[in-house]
Amino acid sequence: MKFLHSNTVFPTASHQALLCTDPGTLQARVSARLAAQPSPATTWDAIVLGVGSMGAATCLELARRGLRVLGLEQFDIPHVHGEHGGQSRIIRKAYYEHPDYVPLLETAYSNWQRLEQETGEQVYFPTGLLYFAASSHPLISGLRLSADAYGVPIGVLTSAEQKTRYPHFQLPDPFERLIEPAAGFLTPERCILLQAERAIDLGACIRSRECVRSWSPMREGVEVVTDKARYHAARLVITAGPWAGRQVPALSRRLRVTRQILAWVAPDRETGMGLSEFPCWTLGDAAWPGIFYGFPMLESQRFGGPRGLKLAHHAPATEVDPDHVQRQTDPADEAPIRYFLDQYMPGLRYQIEALHTCLYTNTPDEHFILDRLPGYEQQVCVAAGFSGHGFKFCSAVGEVMADFAEKGSTDHPVEFLRAGRFG
Ligand SMILES: Cc1cc2nc3c(=O)[nH]c(=O)nc-3n(C[C@H](O)[C@H](O)[C@H](O)COP(=O)(O)OP(=O)(O)OC[C@H]3O[C@@H](n4cnc5c(N)ncnc54)[C@H](O)[C@@H]3O)c2cc1C
Repeated sequence: MKFLHSNTVFPTASHQALLCTDPGTLQARVSARLAAQPSPATTWDAIVLGVGSMGAATCLELARRGLRVLGLEQFDIPHVHGEHGGQSRIIRKAYYEHPDYVPLLETAYSNWQRLEQETGEQVYFPTGLLYFAASSHPLISGLRLSADAYGVPIGVLTSAEQKTRYPHFQLPDPFERLIEPAAGFLTPERCILLQAERAIDLGACIRSRECVRSWSPMREGVEVVTDKARYHAARLVITAGPWAGRQVPALSRRLRVTRQILAWVAPDRETGMGLSEFPCWTLGDAAWPGIFYGFPMLESQRFGGPRGLKLAHHAPATEVDPDHVQRQTDPADEAPIRYFLDQYMPGLRYQIEALHTCLYTNTPDEHFILDRLPGYEQQVCVAAGFSGHGFKFCSAVGEVMADFAEKGSTDHPVEFLRAGRFG
């Protein structure tokens, strides 16, 4: 295997000393911490509206800086109604969507590592990531752009190497076969729980099952009204995921919420598909929008979720109202999964074990919105529209939002993610 940018050194951090507490124990521990908090005060330095992926990270970063922060979450922490459910999320650096994300990813990687060091728990699993597509496909052309611009190490597999190492995939000969060795996956529910717990350790107050009904700017700061109380804060950070349009009507016509499907399949044989032997993978097929992607087989006991080979089709699907999502699945939901398996893993006999629904909040250009809120720049900032690829960035987004809330500006390069870019 040859390497692009072979002078670059891979991260060598050892994960061996880290724990991976089972999901039930971790959930019980953090739920007990949440329940044991005293009744919240009415006045805060910052309120974070929505303690999901971005909100938990923002609460933690604000607490690290010594700000008095209140996080408000309408459901349990975590939950399956928004964007973060489903056991695993890919993290990678050769960002085919846009090279400008790579510096933010450097921050994200080091902040995830910091969370691991602070909690002693593993959240990042470095499996490597395969990229399969024709060289003209945006997955490959975009990846090369980012890898070249930032020297991200990428291995180039020959067709013979791929067939020997990863015989599960049957690919057309002209496909490129690339691997990013330092990529892998994060465990979203664990990340959220650990960030919330650490934020509480550092003095944050986080309330689950408390829904924000409205917020309004005051002469100084913001008033936030929930179904339980009325609060005042100098700053409001809106991290409401699929409900962001409700909280910021000016953004609602730019945010399209879609219903997405995740599948777990039980293969007839599991040889070579375990965590230590099978990388995450992505594949671009010119006949389909977006990409297909998947993970190694993960043990439910350790990672939660159904057992099986998890895979999905990444492309915005049917538009929905986040409060009225059809959670039952039907045969049409299986179509992309069956297409992928029949086309690219034809030797595999499988049964679909589980299909779950999850939501994307898409912007028109599928890039995020990270900004102070136009018209309310002094009081409010917003992180929204993660368009199905935001989780890996949470730990960096927390830092950007904390910068906006604390100083009104950030040194992170997020100009290309301004709220006003859609006119
Ligand atoms: C199927 C699927 C696969 C994905 N795969 C990947 C991947 O491989 N890699 C990757 O990087 N990303 C991936 N993503 C994207 C990533 O998960 C999302 O971008 C990310 O979770 C978005 O975080 P968020 O904080 O905006 O939303 P959420 O995590 O949903 O958090 C928003 C929170 O705000 C709360 N809230 C909203 N309104 C209120 C209110 N009025 N009062 C109180 N609380 C409120 C919600 O209940 C929710 O908890 C995937 C997403 C899906 C759905």
